[in-house]
Amino acid sequence: MEKHTFLIAGNHGEYKLTFYKKDGKAWLNCSCPAGEYGQHCRHAIALINGDTSMVIGNNIQEAAEIKNMVKGTRLEILVKNVMAAESVLKKAKKLVSEQKEELDSIMYPFGPRVKKSEKHQMIFTIRS
Ligand SMILES: [Zn+2]
Repeated sequence: MEKHTFLIAGNHGEYKLTFYKKDGKAWLNCSCPAGEYGQHCRHAIALINGDTSMVIGNNIQEAAEIKNMVKGTRLEILVKNVMAAESVLKKAKKLVSEQKEELDSIMYPFGPRVKKSEKHQMIFTIRS
């Protein structure tokens, strides 16, 4: 089994991130608390994507090789899929936000600060 250990400068101290590879499978284990919050470790994701900016210590060059070491593994594919899906989600959220804003401008033309009696008044522009 291939094993590499890196020291990571995190937001709340230093973490130990270990990379393993065996029989075409790769995985990473980080001591940061991301998993406890149901999140993916951003340090591992960064290394998979070739970003070594948070690696401290004398094996930064080795960390840069992680990107090549995960090539072709299920780990690499899933990280790419998740990132692509998150990008789609981000764009969809932006679109929803923009459309809601435009809808608000039509439904509430006097803005959100209207008198209480006018609060539920909606004005629609219709074509005759
Ligand atoms: Zn981490």
